[in-house]
Amino acid sequence: MADILSLKESAVVYLDRSGGLEKLTEDCKQFNDPQHAEAVYRFCVTVNPSDVIEVDPVLGDCVLHEPLRATALFQSVFFLAIKTLSLIEKIHTQSQVNVILNLTHLPPFPEYTLDLGCFPRGRGPMRPISMEGLVIAVTRVTKYTQGARFLCINDDCPCSTGFHHIRVHAPGATESATVRNDFSCMICNSQLKEDVKFRVLGDKQLVELIHVKALEVLNARQQSSLRYQSVTLFLRDELCNSMTIGRLYRVLGIPAHVHQWPNLTWSVEANGVRPWEPEYLCNISVGFQELLRATASSPWRFSAIAAHGFGLDIAPPGSYDTLKLGLLLSLVQTRADAEEACHNLDLLVVATDTLVFDRLMTYSLGLARRGVRHQASGEMFASLSRDEHGTGTANIHAGSALLATGGICMLGDLGYYKKDKLDSIQSVLESRTVSVFILGKKYGEDADQQLSFPLQCSFWALADPSQRSGRTDCTVLGTAEMGPVPLQLADTFGLVIQCKDMLREQALLAQTVHTLQQSVQPGKPLYPSRWEFSSQDYQELVTHAQTLKVELSPGAEKMIHGYYMASRRVRTLSQGVKMSVASIKLL
Ligand SMILES: [Zn+2]
Repeated sequence: MADILSLKESAVVYLDRSGGLEKLTEDCKQFNDPQHAEAVYRFCVTVNPSDVIEVDPVLGDCVLHEPLRATALFQSVFFLAIKTLSLIEKIHTQSQVNVILNLTHLPPFPEYTLDLGCFPRGRGPMRPISMEGLVIAVTRVTKYTQGARFLCINDDCPCSTGFHHIRVHAPGATESATVRNDFSCMICNSQLKEDVKFRVLGDKQLVELIHVKALEVLNARQQSSLRYQSVTLFLRDELCNSMTIGRLYRVLGIPAHVHQWPNLTWSVEANGVRPWEPEYLCNISVGFQELLRATASSPWRFSAIAAHGFGLDIAPPGSYDTLKLGLLLSLVQTRADAEEACHNLDLLVVATDTLVFDRLMTYSLGLARRGVRHQASGEMFASLSRDEHGTGTANIHAGSALLATGGICMLGDLGYYKKDKLDSIQSVLESRTVSVFILGKKYGEDADQQLSFPLQCSFWALADPSQRSGRTDCTVLGTAEMGPVPLQLADTFGLVIQCKDMLREQALLAQTVHTLQQSVQPGKPLYPSRWEFSSQDYQELVTHAQTLKVELSPGAEKMIHGYYMASRRVRTLSQGVKMSVASIKLL
């Protein structure tokens, strides 16, 4: 008993020092509306485990390892404070106080982190842990019962009035664990009945979090038989809508076994959510540093040589330099920052022999921070399913484009897409949002709802002009060269590179010799040059370039402005010179 008393004392000292008591006084004001009587009063308190340990190591240990006991301690301290300071007159029992402890962080030790890639993971202790991962699905926000008041049906029992039987939500509890009709009175053992008008509802949202390495499976660089299992997070109240599909987060949460007959699932009740970015090494290789020094006299040479020597495993140096430069530019330009501003460069390559270009793109995709190759069998934007964790609401799953947030989504040859798919790519590229329509009737809601998610990736696509779409209007100027791709769709790409003229006989021969030699003697350097860079060198260069803050020199600005004006004029002249709308916007 003395032990509990000293813990409560320490809790008061901590709350006093951390400003928690002041916040409590502030929070209580909203409950003092005389029109309003509630069964449960909810308080969130920020708890810094390091500071608690400073005050009392035993209390700190309790906060970190026995979250339910710690919550009960703070609950009784809060009730005492409210009563002693007369903060809320209408509060009657301690069980009416619902305390949520929001931990600021956890100690940086392996015992407190969960690797989402490890298995089995359901055997760990039910205490706060931290995990990092990628959001691959979110549900709509639905309601849950924060707290409810129960009355005894026996009129002679003191529990037939007042606030003796209060149930509040605990981590991992299902709706039926909080409210049910077979509870019995602790005094007379009669049945309890819920006083429905006192039920307090809160918001909840379910999120699927997966190990970030799962993206490597989608990259299609190497075939992998690995399978990653996502974990379900429960976000409640303030945390709802704090996670965006396709982004990375560090989540602090309490694991819980959720019983739902006949299943038992392992889920996590989120306690805190923060955006997270893995650390990338951005050293510049010695080779590129030397190149930079050697080419410092010219603004063009560095990028020209970097593009010249790019992707040598696939194409000989000097071929498709414009495309290689475009790929590098798109890699550097594409990222999603904390402000959620969009930086991207969509690339459409028009070429008769798509195989080499497909290989070049696949190779470049491996250099991106995040690269997703869209598979014909997969969903490109978003798909819906019914949530299986008891809410029955719509669960929105990320498709390739949303999974590629902050990176590249490679579409491959557009000639293989059906017209309706091409139309949806066009509308998504124009609006840069992915919209999902949720039929209310199907997912247990009264009204239909349309949700939108920002599209924050660059698309890479190929088109073969020799493929005919069977249209009759393909003789119209400007449509014939794009093959199966409608001009309006090509217009939405920021950069269209025509590679068909490059395949002259000589280039074709060079490519053939290159491919043959590569397959006979893989890895052998074919073109001894002073400037040789490995894939890793390029990857580091791209990563480093992404972190640079670029400023336009007055000369460059003048040139781009001149080009912009000229392109606008050319477009209005409409004398057959094509300039896509997206390109002009990009400029
Ligand atoms: Zn009773």
